[in-house]
Amino acid sequence: MKLILLGPPGAGKGTQARLLQEKFGLAHLSTGDMLRAAVESGSPMGQQLQEIMSSGNLVPDNIMVDLIRDRIKEADCKNGFILDGFPRTIAQAEALDEMLESEGMQLNYVIEMQVVDSEMVERISGRYTCAKCGEGYHDHFKKPAKEGVCDECGDTEFKRRADDRAETVKRRLEAYHEQTAPLLPYYRNRGVLASVNGMAEIEDVTKQINSVVEGR
Ligand code: AMP
Repeated sequence: MKLILLGPPGAGKGTQARLLQEKFGLAHLSTGDMLRAAVESGSPMGQQLQEIMSSGNLVPDNIMVDLIRDRIKEADCKNGFILDGFPRTIAQAEALDEMLESEGMQLNYVIEMQVVDSEMVERISGRYTCAKCGEGYHDHFKKPAKEGVCDECGDTEFKRRADDRAETVKRRLEAYHEQTAPLLPYYRNRGVLASVNGMAEIEDVTKQINSVVEGR
């Protein structure tokens, strides 16, 4: 199964992708995570990426397409994958079509996570993750059961993304509407688009997504 999760920053793509990965044994391909790993490596390329990402703008299409082209050939993608954060432009979507075709792969679903824009700044600025296992938390909506201790792995270090500051989030939302939202009609026209209510509780959003992928 090959899926795309589509939605603005803060829609819950990463959270749902992690759950789908566990339930269906799919690879979770988060381009944001891949880019953050490149930034952490401290390479000259990583520094350039960091500048773009901390401004809230998109990284050039050719870099993103090369990243995904190599990644989908890896062994863990054989069983299928969830794309989280890619494609983000029509040019990326067209490049994805070509690479899937040349690998003999087919896209099954594009799931749009519909959310209310004005609430995304609060959602994003309160979020943080476990530094060890990446489990996501939120200052108001999802605290660890024991304060300061990850529910999943017991680690006590957490981190926040540099681009989750309110000013950057606004630019990221604009970039979504200008450059990524045109993908909705692109995929709707192919009959692969399904929309879920991303404002519902996490478990409820998961149920909606499961209904789509299990054809209920
Ligand atoms: P994310 O973790 O998906 O919110 O991505 C964080 C940042 O990485 C974005 O604001 C962009 O600067 C960059 N990025 C991630 N995926 C892409 C993509 N497919 N195309 C362009 N830039 C991307």
